[in-house]
Amino acid sequence: MRILVTGGAGYIGSHACQRLLKDGHTVVALDNLLRGHQKPMDMLKAAHAKSFNFVHADLGDSKAVLETLDTNELDTVMHFGALAYVGESVEDPLWYYRNNISSGIGLLDACDAAHGGKGIKRFIFSSSCATYGNPPTNMIPVPEHCPQSPTSPYGYTKLHFEHILKDYANKRTIDNNPIALTMLRYFNVAGSDRTGMLGEDHTPETHLIPVAIDAALGKRESMSIFGTDYPTPDGTNIRDYVHVEDLISAHALAMDSTQIGQIEAFNVGIGKGYSVREILDSVKRVSGVDFTVHDAPKRAGDAIALYNNPAKIKSTLGWDAQITDIDEVVASAFNWLKDHPNGYRD
Ligand code: UDP
Repeated sequence: MRILVTGGAGYIGSHACQRLLKDGHTVVALDNLLRGHQKPMDMLKAAHAKSFNFVHADLGDSKAVLETLDTNELDTVMHFGALAYVGESVEDPLWYYRNNISSGIGLLDACDAAHGGKGIKRFIFSSSCATYGNPPTNMIPVPEHCPQSPTSPYGYTKLHFEHILKDYANKRTIDNNPIALTMLRYFNVAGSDRTGMLGEDHTPETHLIPVAIDAALGKRESMSIFGTDYPTPDGTNIRDYVHVEDLISAHALAMDSTQIGQIEAFNVGIGKGYSVREILDSVKRVSGVDFTVHDAPKRAGDAIALYNNPAKIKSTLGWDAQITDIDEVVASAFNWLKDHPNGYRD
């Protein structure tokens, strides 16, 4: 297929480009490089000169996106480009809505106008388990039919964009020009591609696993646990950590399986929850370093416990996580960060 990957220079988007190119697809990555990196784009271009291109543009720039879709004859969009920090979204909600919603609508305008008004055929959206907020206890592990009630502006941007996409897909059906729409609600994505080429390089870095690895590598003196009196067995938040390569496999399966005219939503998570303390124990085991951890107040916007019920994605897409050992997930992240102490600047 011929695929536009928005946010293609980011952590998850770059892993998607790599996998799609390996599968023989033509890929154009589009990224404003606010949080993404030029270096993985250059590496992918060097490895796949004929089937890969990078466009430096904002996804809200409809004109640039339209030109990219048309000139490269792209009919499928994987939309990763977004601001994605819960805490940051609480501090600057309008920036999050502007970027994740307004720019997303700009992207859809281009998707609609592409190919002389025929539009694109397939859209795969990076949604989030943050759309569920704090699920009722009888809905943990979380199935797709769980009520969606986010606890943060970030979660709301993902939920609102799901609604916008569904309305757009329905309009395309009414116009007798249907689209295949898949919304993948990610749980916590972690790890790096196991060839060692791509990794996770965020500025600022706020995600638990890379922050803990930075502490293990001595890049920060210590780290904090945000909240130790949650109603969970050890008092810390519980999350489901899916390896980035397994996550991308779900995209490949969704692209092949969701039929034109269908609207589908799938959770992508391994189906097992780990507390913050359990993750820190894993990072200590993998690194062999007993770094300093402080107890700290809760972070605004954090849900208590979120882990997936993978029944639907298993039965419908035949997806299953291949990497379920948390130490293996952590080790793949650790190896890249150890080999690239300055991230992509090395
Ligand atoms: N967390 C923490 N200390 C940190 C970073 C994160 O205790 O330095 C906790 C955070 O409160 C949440 C979990 O780790 O409960 C996962 O957070 P992360 O930011 O990695 O992902 P999120 O679930 O927010 O998408």
